[in-house]
Amino acid sequence: MTKKMVCIECPKSCLISVDIENCKVAKVTGAKCPRGVKYALAEAVTPARLFTATVIAEGLDLKLIPVRTDKPIPKKDIFRAVEEIRKLRIGKPVKAGETIVENFLGLGIKLLATREAVKGGCKNV
Ligand code: SF4
Repeated sequence: MTKKMVCIECPKSCLISVDIENCKVAKVTGAKCPRGVKYALAEAVTPARLFTATVIAEGLDLKLIPVRTDKPIPKKDIFRAVEEIRKLRIGKPVKAGETIVENFLGLGIKLLATREAVKGGCKNV
């Protein structure tokens, strides 16, 4: 089996092929640098993405607070992450970069707020 992918590590966007035989990577072709090989190996074996979403706020100046994980999460856990986000509520003020969940999905990954939210009305007044 051959997996084809576009490397997203730099703007050159190399088309990389990863040949998999007997559940093991046999060959990587198309990458123009070691970074691309590393990316392709990770993408072929354990694809992961940074997860971004919004969490419902209660009693704050924002209705929704944008959040992201501090590390990529496995693609297989994306739907589980969405379900977890739907259950979350933020009722206290948060600063940009503040940890909302310390161990998101039990993966040892933090969920961070990416925007400040304060109690009540407009934070700029
Ligand atoms: S393989 Fe190397 S040169 Fe090609 S897109 Fe990836 S990082 Fe850039």
